[in-house]
Formats: sequence, structure tokens, C-alpha cells
Amino acid sequence: MKESTKILTKLAQAISEETVKIIDLSNTLSSDFPVIILPPEFGQCEQFKMETLSEYDENGPAWYWNNISMNEHTGTHFDAPAHWITGKDIPNNTVESIPVQNFVAPAVVVDISKESAINPDFLITKEFLLEWEKTHGEIPPKNWIALRTDWYKLVGTEKYLNMQKDGAHSPGPDKSAIEFLVFERDCIGLAVETIGTDAGQAFDFDPPLPAHSILHGNGRYGLQCLKNLDKLPTFGSIIIANPLKIEKGSGSPLRVLALVDG
Ligand code: MN
Repeated sequence: MKESTKILTKLAQAISEETVKIIDLSNTLSSDFPVIILPPEFGQCEQFKMETLSEYDENGPAWYWNNISMNEHTGTHFDAPAHWITGKDIPNNTVESIPVQNFVAPAVVVDISKESAINPDFLITKEFLLEWEKTHGEIPPKNWIALRTDWYKLVGTEKYLNMQKDGAHSPGPDKSAIEFLVFERDCIGLAVETIGTDAGQAFDFDPPLPAHSILHGNGRYGLQCLKNLDKLPTFGSIIIANPLKIEKGSGSPLRVLALVDG
């Protein structure tokens, strides 16, 4: 028997015995789930819409189904490199062309929930991450960096988007943090509970939206509107995040799962 087969046999047993647990990291797609709001001069992201075609009635006596529509970036969703202009010319930059190997990857959870509760504009920096590594150990390559903010607990309240007259206020990384994670820690991407991988005020950063600009310009991915990152260990979880296979898709809503030791 090949070694890989043995690993999967053990994994299957662990899943059935729940010594490996599956955590749902997705919010429910519904018409009231908020979407990012851009400055008014730009095109706007569409919320989830569902139209019932039949529900065991004259339009379909034995079946229930719906037509649905949304933006690629509605709800819990995946950002592909082509989402940003910096990633427009790199290979395999749309969802249908990303190597599927990248849809299953380990995660490191960096907890900034306390800082974010005190300051909704909290920015994680390279300096913060270097301090964090002194306590927790070095961030390994090819990991999702999961920013735990507990922001998902604000879904259903105005504090989730936290829109003020000067735009949204939510935590995120600064340029130094993203450059560190991409160039010095070779992350696969950034996974967040907020509406975008960038902080709410990041339109005014230099460069604007540094997470989008630097992640996607270097072939890395984004996961947004996640939940339950507080249920993951700092190290040792596996995230399964496979977007819909949309031709030339810049991103996709998806069901994100995490495997954790039970
Ligand atoms: Mn997005």
C-alpha cells in the first residue's frame, strides 16, 4: 500500500470518529447579507438574489428550485488574482484556471480580535507579526493567513460594514504586513472575517488597498466574510476553499471548510 493511501485511510477514520472535526467557515448566502460598498462613482457589488421558480406548485408540482444571482464577491467568497489590476497578466489568474492543489491548504490563525474590538481601524503590521512569531513560532510557507477579528459576530448589525461619512471602518493589514507575508513567508493568501482583505479605510493607503494590490499581483488569493476563525487552532488546521469554476471568474462565493484536530 502506498503511503498516501495510508494517510487517507487514517484521515477517513479520524473524520468518521470525529477526532478530526469539520468546521464551517462560511456565512449563509441570503438577500440581507451585506456586500462591500464602494465610493459612489464606481460600479456596485450586487447582493444575493433568489427567485423561486416552483415549490411543489403549478410551476413545478413535484419540485422546488430557485434562480439565483449575485456578484462574484458576494457573501463568503474567494478572490482570484485577476480581481486586481496588479494580477491581470499573471498566469492562472481566474478561478477556473487556478491549480486545484491550492484549494486545500493549511492555515495559521493570527488573533487580532482584542485589538480590533478596541480600534475598528486596527492595522496589523510587519512589526506586529514579528512580535507574534516570537510567541507562537515562525509562519510556515504555503499557508492561509487567517486574521481572526471576531468580526463575523457583527454580521446582522451596522457595525459589520461600519460605514461612516468617511467610508468603512474595519481592521486589516498594512502594506508592510502584506509584503512580509507574501515575500518573506510565502503565504497562499489572506483569509478574513471582514468584507474585504483590506482594512475599511484602505482606499486612502499607499498603495490603495495594499492587500488586494500585493496579494493578487503576486498570484496570491483572498478569502472574505469568513466566520468561526475563533474555532481554529493557531497552527494545524487545513482550509478547503474551492471556488466555483466560473469561466474568467475574478472570484466566487463558496462554502469554506476547515479540518481541525478534535
Ligand atoms: Mn472580493
